[in-house]
Amino acid sequence: MDVYGLIGNPVGHSLSPPMHEAAYDALGLDARYVTFEPDEDAAVDAVAGADALGVAGLNVTVPFKRDVAAAVETDDLASAVGAVNTLDFSGETVTGHNTDVEGAVRALREQADAKLEGSTAVVVGAGGAGRAVAFGLADAGASVRVANRTVERAESLAADVSRAVDGATVGARGLDDLVGALADADVLVNATSVGMEEDETPVPAAALHGGLVVLDAVYAPLETRLLRDATAAGARTVDGAWMLLYQGAAAFERWTDEPAPVDAMNDALRNGLSQ
Ligand code: NAP
Repeated sequence: MDVYGLIGNPVGHSLSPPMHEAAYDALGLDARYVTFEPDEDAAVDAVAGADALGVAGLNVTVPFKRDVAAAVETDDLASAVGAVNTLDFSGETVTGHNTDVEGAVRALREQADAKLEGSTAVVVGAGGAGRAVAFGLADAGASVRVANRTVERAESLAADVSRAVDGATVGARGLDDLVGALADADVLVNATSVGMEEDETPVPAAALHGGLVVLDAVYAPLETRLLRDATAAGARTVDGAWMLLYQGAAAFERWTDEPAPVDAMNDALRNGLSQ
């Protein structure tokens, strides 16, 4: 039996176990997916221990994505983002990858048919999710505007993207002129945590329009105020569970070399989110 898992703290409410185990069931794989909650200073030791024990693959979540990235061999995109969420133990050394990047891009392409190459995208947020989304969109050929409450963090992310992605066009700003930033934009991604705790949105409804595809990385609740406002403005919307699904699917595909059974994974994820 192959053992996969997730390390983070806390991980008690993670939907990754049902999502991945639905994939194993759908394909008849002899595998389990379990959660591990090491102490805050023990993540790197936990990864070495998992390697020694023959764990087949690990996802990594908050607060360990950066510390673990510094301790494993990262691919180019994960090193540019500075964070990993997927570890592969199949080679000589443990390798680290960031499938949040692919999760966001695939969600936009597959759920809203978004054409990213040559598009203009506004990414609101410059934390872990914002970094992954900004790199993913720039890598897909979008011109990216990063908007963040703390402007310096947006500027630092924009500089990192410019350095790492050949030919990237990326700018930075605060949250005060989202109407101007979005007027000619094709894509909007909310990568802040706003909308999770309260029925709030980081983007004024007046900034939204029918030419936008809007992805909200927030997945609990699924129908955020931003997505309701976007629907009312005539935009195409993609909820955060799609990003979560495709980051999981990308990890599954890396680990097993099989196409992910995304329908089964999606059913399990949405079932978990509705509980
Ligand atoms: P993080 O690293 O803590 O970053 C939080 C971001 O939210 C920062 O840009 C922060 O701005 C901004 N923010 C927080 N409170 C705000 C407020 N009141 N007004 C304006 N901006 C505010 O968190 P993260 O890991 O990036 O996660 C962000 C969200 O994405 C969470 O809801 C998480 O669940 C979601 N997420 C979803 C997926 C998925 O697969 N769907 C994957 C990863 C994360 P400052 O820099 O100014 O503090």
